[in-house]
Amino acid sequence: MSSPISSQRLIQRIVNLAAIGQDPAGGITRPFGSDADLRARRAFQAEVEKAGLAYHVDAAGNQWAVLAGADAFAKMIAVGSHLDTVPHGGAYDGSAGVLMALEAIQSLSVAGYRSRHPLAVVAFTGEEPNPFGLSTLGSRLFTGRLEGQDLLDYTDGDGRSLQDALKRVGGDLSQCNTLNPDRIAAFIEPHVEQSGRLDELGLPVAVVDQITGIYRDQVTLTGEQNHAGTTPLAKRRDALNAFGRAVVGMDAMLRDVWPEWMVGTIGQVRVYPNAVNIVPSEVTFTVELRSTNMAQLQRGAERYREHLTDELERWGIAVTIRNLLNQAPQPLSSAIQKVLVDSARARHVKPPVLSSWAGHDATHIARRVPAGMLFVRSLGGKSHCPDEESRPADLALAAEIIYDALIVLDQSLEEVLAGGAAI
Ligand SMILES: [Zn+2]
Repeated sequence: MSSPISSQRLIQRIVNLAAIGQDPAGGITRPFGSDADLRARRAFQAEVEKAGLAYHVDAAGNQWAVLAGADAFAKMIAVGSHLDTVPHGGAYDGSAGVLMALEAIQSLSVAGYRSRHPLAVVAFTGEEPNPFGLSTLGSRLFTGRLEGQDLLDYTDGDGRSLQDALKRVGGDLSQCNTLNPDRIAAFIEPHVEQSGRLDELGLPVAVVDQITGIYRDQVTLTGEQNHAGTTPLAKRRDALNAFGRAVVGMDAMLRDVWPEWMVGTIGQVRVYPNAVNIVPSEVTFTVELRSTNMAQLQRGAERYREHLTDELERWGIAVTIRNLLNQAPQPLSSAIQKVLVDSARARHVKPPVLSSWAGHDATHIARRVPAGMLFVRSLGGKSHCPDEESRPADLALAAEIIYDALIVLDQSLEEVLAGGAAI
């Protein structure tokens, strides 16, 4: 199948966007609400308008670029991802997905394709963690997983208002109740594959069957603050020492019991009083577990909690655990998986079906709308770092697959979704 996808235009847009938010320390820093975020949004809007698509921003600050459809009553078919980045991140996570979507839909327009459904590119607000501690903000507001009304007084650690930040990008928390995901008939998120599996397989694209479940706790270990010189070892209740045992214990549990099924991370630590000559009295840290199997995830969480309590209380350390998140794995639409697999095969590529170990906007959209994801090879699986890279040919191929998949969904949406057959 031919298509008018322009690899050059797609790559040039990725390069241009990568120039926004360049960090002197390396990489791209473009968190939600930053000046760089605003500049990236304006640059995207300019490209959308140049491409002749209708542009609007919804109450969650999500940016939409729409190619009108012939049927005034037809629901929208949407493709997209996010434009914000992690600190010192790369040029492809999120942005490549939005720009592949734009390339596919602009190419359909250039080819004179008259769609029945409106076809939309979407760039969701604030997918990555941000100072407000609310990742996948735009897709959660859009699907009602977060209620705008509940967040009107929400501020970040420095007292900045979420509502002000959202208004800066054209959104309004008080209007989020007007958002309606049921306007969308199907959603595809193209995204770089972040684990290196595709690169190891030597394949350019994969279709995603589900997105990992995520469990997060905040744990506080409380011991006793005392003099670092005069307190004998036998009398110490050292919270940082206990923390060390917790780290080693969790790592051993994960390696012994669930090396295939689960990963776990202690990613954030605070020590009190954090002074050179004081036995630490308190350590607060986060524990995160991820698995594509909900039963395993729950078993892992129970087991590490038991281990922590049993092991550390023997050392006179009090353990307080607060659950922050317990998100089940999210299956993606088997019907849309099939469309993506068929579209890839038509381009002479046999894509593997992989689960995603990273969270994505598609996790939330898939709870309300039939949704799929297309992964593109990331060299060495590097991501969330300045070295993130995908080959131009792989990106162009993925845009072509999206192009073909959009035509199939537009022309036979009802049959495709009714079929929902296994691949
Ligand atoms: Zn991403």
